[in-house]
Amino acid sequence: MSVTVIEGCAIATVDAAGTEHADGHLVIADDRLVAVGAGPAPPAGDGDVVRIDGRGRLATPGLVNAHHHLYQWVTRGLAQQATLFEWLVELYPVWARIDAETESAAARAGLAALARSGCTATMDHHYVFPREAGDLLEAEIEAAQAIGLRFHATRGSMDLGRSDGGLPPDEVCEDRDEILAASEAAIDRFHDPSPGAMVRIALAPCSPFSVTPELMKDAAELARKRGVRLHTHLAETTDEEAFCRERFGVRPVEYLEGLGWLGDDVWLAHCVHLDAHEVSRFGETGTGVAHCPSSNARLGAGIAPVPALLAAGAPVGLGVDGAASNEAGELAMEVRNALLLARLAGGPAALTAREALELGTMGGARCLGRADDIGSLEPGKLADVALWRMDGPEQAGIADPVAGLVLGAPRPVETLLVGGRVVVAGGELRTADEAEIGRDVARAARRVAERTGAAR
Ligand SMILES: [Zn+2]
Repeated sequence: MSVTVIEGCAIATVDAAGTEHADGHLVIADDRLVAVGAGPAPPAGDGDVVRIDGRGRLATPGLVNAHHHLYQWVTRGLAQQATLFEWLVELYPVWARIDAETESAAARAGLAALARSGCTATMDHHYVFPREAGDLLEAEIEAAQAIGLRFHATRGSMDLGRSDGGLPPDEVCEDRDEILAASEAAIDRFHDPSPGAMVRIALAPCSPFSVTPELMKDAAELARKRGVRLHTHLAETTDEEAFCRERFGVRPVEYLEGLGWLGDDVWLAHCVHLDAHEVSRFGETGTGVAHCPSSNARLGAGIAPVPALLAAGAPVGLGVDGAASNEAGELAMEVRNALLLARLAGGPAALTAREALELGTMGGARCLGRADDIGSLEPGKLADVALWRMDGPEQAGIADPVAGLVLGAPRPVETLLVGGRVVVAGGELRTADEAEIGRDVARAARRVAERTGAAR
């Protein structure tokens, strides 16, 4: 058994009681926490013990990313002033040129950025599968295994092309039967239902304007038959609302509810444009929301009603969203931006620093269906831990460490443990060479741009 002891740090456990320690300890045995409390750690048994000096640090649960598109790391900085629909129309033909090699480079870069910003568990929503691109899901799962993050890959899809009245060009859409067969194959091959799982699969048709209602229904049926979760984009912009009214005669939430897509096995990205009744339906049904503040701001989409969703009892997590609409791709920044956007919409008491941290940890864990496993620092849970420096000039002198973390400058996490394994130490990624990742991603971005140019 390998044992790690962290002592001398402040701890924000983010447990149900909001327990915090000004000076506390964490003890990890193999991949689980076995003790969390105030003061020094209880004496460890014989054998090798790794000790981490936590003085001047804050320990929090590892952040959980509830929405992302890793492949977009190689298509950043495009369509800079566009609305969502304009941005998508410009980017779909670029995304049609990705392949397993570019996917791998993009995923490693995106995962490295997540790790350095304190994220221990992330989902990925991959929905572009060009023919002859190779095995993209396998490429990103291998990247997650190499970087060392807990990974929920979703098998996304689009089957409503432009010729049928959808937004995406037909060339990036797939046939419904192919999608369902590939979804089932992904579950068979990669989904690990066990409690400590490092890899899980969920099903994620892309959005109301790129997917048929038939595929939405079939995907829900398949997911429920196989015991995996469901994810999609919803109510991101007023353009989407207009599309749903025109094509389906209803608002986006009503459309989804009619397809059996509200429930505690579903989490939805964005949910910016909700009315009061829709907010209460999210709470009643336990439907989760992945709030993506930076992406919503980048695309000028609006501000999701996060305090109202929390008051209704809905699980709310945070997502960086794809890097084509959030070039930073860092999760600690989303904790800060969630607080700032909530206050821009609702005043300075709309969201506290502790509530923002809870969104980024337990809220995300609830979205991914992992609330029993991750999201808080409690004995018995997986040892997914972020240790943040509080003694540098950025945070030093702020007496409240949680305020220092959330209101202060987002900076790389100092130590990141995933299931007790060191992923970041001394503020640097230890599982891969960041310079090599940078070179690979630059080459991959060039390759996608050249292939797009050649196709135009
Ligand atoms: Zn998205």
